[in-house]
Amino acid sequence: MTDTDGERVLKQLLEGNRRFVEGELRHPHQSEQRRLEITAGQKPVAVVVGCSDSRVPPEIIFDTGLGDLFTVRVAGNIIGPVVMGSIEYAVERVGVPLVMVLGHSRCGAVTATVEGGEPVGQIGGLAEKIQPAVAEVEGQPGNVVDNAAKVNVKHVVEELKNSDPIIAEYYKRGDVKVVGAFYDLESGRVEVIC
Ligand SMILES: [Zn+2]
Repeated sequence: MTDTDGERVLKQLLEGNRRFVEGELRHPHQSEQRRLEITAGQKPVAVVVGCSDSRVPPEIIFDTGLGDLFTVRVAGNIIGPVVMGSIEYAVERVGVPLVMVLGHSRCGAVTATVEGGEPVGQIGGLAEKIQPAVAEVEGQPGNVVDNAAKVNVKHVVEELKNSDPIIAEYYKRGDVKVVGAFYDLESGRVEVIC
């Protein structure tokens, strides 16, 4: 059986992450030539829905360059209407075959949700979206923040797979692969978790 485009791209990203971890970065697609090549149009290989955290830039940890990744970054890598619209645009209009939801260890948004308290401004909106994951891991062994961050990734992946009309349809037809992954700040390694 041959790989689908989504599976092929996932392998490509994980190989880039291996180079990042092992100090073999190639910094592809960062030349003037590449910059000019893609002025005619973009053909990114994946959507990465990641956290805004400055320590987790998808382009670097997957060793990619200009025009490679369609990234949507928001604290806690959660989805609301405008984030969903960005993902739908990438899948339907740009034809991206892979959507990766990328959580990470020691996430500040998850930590704030675990700690609770009275958030000011719009921060409460973030905590509200992450809270179900925190509740789900209560009493489990291990680090509560990392456990909750992983469950939060799984929730977001499910939300995407069931998102009518666009993503759910593409997913059911097999035209887009949706995966959840987790980045470890210490090792730099990305692990696919769902
Ligand atoms: Zn984070």
